[in-house]
Amino acid sequence: MKKTSQELFDAAVKVLPGGVNSPVRAFRAVNLAPRFIQRADGAHIYDVEGNEYLDYVCSWGPMILGHNHPVIREAVERAVVDGLSFGAPTAREVEIAQRMVELVPNIEMVRMVNSGTEAVMSAIRLARGATGRDKIIKFEGCYHGHSDCLLVGAGSSALAGGHPTSAGVPQDVVRHTLTAQFNDLASVETLLQANENQVACVIVEPVAANMGVVGPKPGFLAGLRTLCDQYGALLIFDEVITGFRLGLGGAQAYFGVKADIVTFGKIIGGGMPVGAYCASRALMEEVAPCGPVYQAGTLSGNPVAMAAGLAQLRYLKEHPEVYTHIDALATRLAEGMRKAAAETGAPVTVNQIGSLLAPFFTPDAVSTFVDAKGSDVGKYARYFANMLEQGIYLAPAQFEAMFLSNAHTKEDVDRTIEAVRASLAAL
Ligand code: PMP
Repeated sequence: MKKTSQELFDAAVKVLPGGVNSPVRAFRAVNLAPRFIQRADGAHIYDVEGNEYLDYVCSWGPMILGHNHPVIREAVERAVVDGLSFGAPTAREVEIAQRMVELVPNIEMVRMVNSGTEAVMSAIRLARGATGRDKIIKFEGCYHGHSDCLLVGAGSSALAGGHPTSAGVPQDVVRHTLTAQFNDLASVETLLQANENQVACVIVEPVAANMGVVGPKPGFLAGLRTLCDQYGALLIFDEVITGFRLGLGGAQAYFGVKADIVTFGKIIGGGMPVGAYCASRALMEEVAPCGPVYQAGTLSGNPVAMAAGLAQLRYLKEHPEVYTHIDALATRLAEGMRKAAAETGAPVTVNQIGSLLAPFFTPDAVSTFVDAKGSDVGKYARYFANMLEQGIYLAPAQFEAMFLSNAHTKEDVDRTIEAVRASLAAL
């Protein structure tokens, strides 16, 4: 007999910490047992009991075309036939890098890695190596993966789990990490002034998507650019969420601001484990084997992962209408959720940028990390449980985004709005 989610979870907690391989999946922030997923197709995922859910997690972003897209699946199937890993260069690595260089502004070279964490960790090393400076500035509530120097005031499940600054990271390592406030240029300038000629880089999620979704105020990203130029620091856009989602050119194109180093993650793997960091030729040639900044990876540029990523990027390039569709759906959903909140009298604020959105359980506008933390996470948990009951699969924590995919339809969105209305009324 097939095991249920509860049976699998009971077995899982005995052999996996919290029963999972990544904390947010454990549903702890919402006090439930996770659903074990059997398969996914289009905008839907199915648990081992066969329950169908409309999915707004989309594997945390990469499934922009929906799950199990035939073009990507077939590319993977073809690649697998040739072998799983060679540890030697392949043609696909060249093509995916060429495409990225063509589509993303201001980058000339790409280094592939296996996750967003690795991409950002390596980008920080590059910034430090290239500038000869040690300090970095990040923003409280922004998440950049789990490398030591970035687990300070982190967002996402580090925040939801109550450990925005991780144990096990030596003070000596994080004394070089300075923390500023998102959407507050003065907080950045103060740090740059106080640490003149010591700051290697400012790293930012151009849309903060690991504290819910918080967009940059007009002028914030451009202001970071100006400050970085003024103080000789490099500007890193962590586009693990925004890359190829806000559009083919990512946040640089969307907001018209140039970054020095850009990091990408899961979305360029089409669901396979991939990340990348990219910059000008001058910067990237600091990286081994050209330069002294060492970074390597046995599985980097893995042929199967490259096949999936390449198929997805090709599809996106050939079908720019994907972006029109997902952005319009997100706007419809955000407006519908706001209306449902107004009609039920629920104090909810919905932020939306492109195909990213998040509700906050507060009546006030949310444009800073402090505002985001003002959300009533207990209410979010009840809302989450109620939505799950209605067959809608959301991020199981407040400090995450909702993602739309090209497989979502207007009907899906309208059904979701009705579920939100029912859920808010029940709160
Ligand atoms: N940067 C950002 C902005 C992220 O959202 C994430 C994870 N969602 C990461 C880095 C880390 O990526 P990964 O989980 O692939 O290591």
